[in-house]
Order: sequence, then C-alpha cells, then structure tokens
Amino acid sequence: MTLSTAWDHPEPLAVASAPVPAYGSGSLADLLPTLAAGMGVPDMTAAIPELTPADRACVFLIDGLGWEQLRAHPGEAPFLTSLLDSSRGGTGRPITVGYPATTATSLASVGTGLPPGAHGLPGYTVRDPATGALMNQLRWQPYTDPRAWQPYPTVFQLAQRAGVHSAQVSSPTFANTPLTKVALSGGTFLGRLTGEDRMDVAAEQLAAGDRALVYTYYSELDGAGHRYGVDSDTWRGQLMHVDRLVQRLAEQLPERSALYVTADHGMVDIPFDEQHRIDFDEDWELRAGVALLGGEGRARHVYAVPGAAGDVLTCWREVLGEQFWVASRDEAVAAGWFGPRVDDRVHGRLGDVIAAARDDVLLIASEREPKESSMVGNHGSMTPAEQLVPLLEVRS
Ligand SMILES: [Zn+2]
Repeated sequence: MTLSTAWDHPEPLAVASAPVPAYGSGSLADLLPTLAAGMGVPDMTAAIPELTPADRACVFLIDGLGWEQLRAHPGEAPFLTSLLDSSRGGTGRPITVGYPATTATSLASVGTGLPPGAHGLPGYTVRDPATGALMNQLRWQPYTDPRAWQPYPTVFQLAQRAGVHSAQVSSPTFANTPLTKVALSGGTFLGRLTGEDRMDVAAEQLAAGDRALVYTYYSELDGAGHRYGVDSDTWRGQLMHVDRLVQRLAEQLPERSALYVTADHGMVDIPFDEQHRIDFDEDWELRAGVALLGGEGRARHVYAVPGAAGDVLTCWREVLGEQFWVASRDEAVAAGWFGPRVDDRVHGRLGDVIAAARDDVLLIASEREPKESSMVGNHGSMTPAEQLVPLLEVRS
C-alpha cells in the first residue's frame, strides 16, 4: 500500500467555497490599527477607511455578541439596535472576526492588529511544536513563554510609544494572565468587577489624554450562550444588561471621542442528538492515524501520526462529507483561512487536517472534552452566525 498525500486529492469545491474572513478590509484585526492610524500613530494602516478618525477611541468587546444574534433580538437591545438605524445617523455594520471564531484567537487579533497566521494563536487548543503537546490558548496551559509565542508588539504598546494614553478596563482576574500579556499589553490595565464600573472607568480613561485608546470587555453573554443557548432567557437577560452598559458608556463619552462596540465571535446552538453531534471518541474511522485532536467542536485542528496526514484527510472528507470544510494544512494556508500569511513559527501549530463546520453540527470528543462537549451554544467556524460581529459606533 502506498501512503497517499494531499496531491492525490485535488481540492474539492468545499475548501474553495469556505467564506474566508475579510482580512485587511473588514476584520477584527483591522480595527485597532485603523483607530491608531486616525490618531497619527506611525506605521498603522487605516484598513477600514469608512471609520472617521477620532482623537479618543474606546473599543467595547462583548464576548459572544454575533451580528445575526443581535439583529434577531431588537427588543432586548434597543440602544444597540438604534446604532444600526441609518435614518437616525447609525453607521453600524458587520465585520468578520477571523478564523477560528474563538475568544483567544480574536482577542489576539484585536490587540495585535494582526491576523491569526501572524499573531500565532490560531485556535482554542493547538499543538506546541516544541513539546508536541496540545496547548490551551485561553487558559495558557501548559505554560509557555508568552513573548516567544507571540513576539509582536500590541497596538496599545505602539500607541503608548507615540504618546497616546492607552488603557484596558476588564475583570481583575485577567490582570496578569499570559493571554492579556500577548494580546493587550501596553498602557494601564484597570481591573473592575462589574460592568457598570468598567463603563465608568473606561469613560474616565478616555478623558485622561488628549489622544486615548481604551479597551473594555464583558464576558457573561458568551457564558450564557454556552450554557443555555442563544435565545434562552438567561442569554436574553444578558443582552438586555449589555445594551444598558453600552448606553451608560455612550452617555459619558468625553468630547472628541468615538465608542466602538464589537465582539469576538457569534454563536450557534447545536441540537443534542447523534446527527448533530459527531463523537470523535466513539468513531474509530475519524480516530485512525490521529495523534492529537485540537481546536474545538466547530473548528478542529487534527494532528496526524507521522506519515498518515494524507490518509486522515481522505478519511475525514469521506466521513464528514459536506457537513464540514475539510482542508489540508497547505490548502487552508493557501486559501487564506488564517490570514494572508502564516509565519514559520505558527505553521506547525496548525493541524495537518483542518475541519470547519458548515452545517449546524459539532465534532465533539465526549471523553477527552466532557465539558466542552456538553455546551448548548458553540462557535469557531466560518459561517455568518459565527464570523459576523457588529461594529457599532457612537460619537460624542
Ligand atoms: Zn465562547
């Protein structure tokens, strides 16, 4: 038997049909560089030219607030929805988050202004080529040197160097985490427990410089979606809370300010049955030749045992059919899933096979990942429900 290689399998339509994020023209990684360019920070590109420059800009990132989910709930989010109404001056629009649509990846894209192929946090869990073990990018386990993992300066650091007052206002628990270090370093980190306090401090920080770049964050909408589902009472209650938080900050904006509300990904609810939840731990065909399973249910990195990558690709395509976009690493890189370039140090972190859900399906691993496998709401892939997030603007 000869081992097959990716060359034996001409790229099926499915890989080419994946809707690649709008890197360089309307993705999360383009936001901070555009705002910093508007403040005169050197070497920053205004990749979203529709945004009018402001001396003071605040980005409020709401974890898990997808564009489609916001549009489906105007009653719970009257203030946010008003920012979409062009007849009342609203300029709200959707942008794409980047692949995969997951928090660690998106926070790094926001803070560094770089796509995942460059900042190098290309998944929820990825293989560390130095150790051969999976690393959780959100919890940073097992520990590795953050500065070696993500060596680029953040936009906050570059802005600070250019004399722009920079600050992050988030939960105190994130003050010293490696993810904060790689994604949000530069300027002052202010930990506040409640959303209300974060809004008030963010407004103070905006006023603290003639030019200011401020970031603030709220996590609990995402948690409600994972546990109870998008559209659950808990999720709706969180959306109502978030709507009031945004209004609270908007009403305190100092002069010459712009507030941008955005998110790190959307979310889809996945039914609890075998058609919608394919279990890797129960499927010997999918497990054959696989050394490590990374990523998450809708965005998998599959690491093959040496020599088996071609066979794993063939098998995964056969088993998953049209339910997933299944690509070899080279195909995914060439198609630009992780951005226009993938740095050498990042290449080995990507799966030999990469599988992104296109239907409302999940590739769970009930034994390896019991907690993740039982979530109602999920995200990670390239579908509009996950990729599109709002970019809403309030100006003083
Ligand atoms: Zn999440």
